[in-house]
Amino acid sequence: MTDPTPDDVPTVSCSRCDREWDLAYELDDLQVGNQALEQFALDHERHTGHFPDGVETWRADCRRCPETIQRLSENAARRWAETHARHTGHAIDLHHADDEATTRVEPP
Ligand SMILES: [Zn+2]
Ligand SMILES: [Zn+2]
Repeated sequence: MTDPTPDDVPTVSCSRCDREWDLAYELDDLQVGNQALEQFALDHERHTGHFPDGVETWRADCRRCPETIQRLSENAARRWAETHARHTGHAIDLHHADDEATTRVEPP
């Protein structure tokens, strides 16, 4: 008997979908563990509108309108916030992925 899912293939679960996946497909494609999870998370968000469990995201929340986004990288979240602030004149709160800190992004 061969286990099609070896122990060293990382898995990811999503409580909102009530499902669990192994990342063999992403690992095959990318050959990199961390990027496999990141790639899966991005694909999941693109198709379902939310991130799977255990994925730390930066969240940009506009203080003036309902716009809000989540990104895996600070740069991507910050760029969205700065662009939104620039075009709308709105201030945005940037919630850090790794702690409770928040950064305010003010319009220029
Ligand atoms: Zn999900
Ligand atoms: Zn706004």
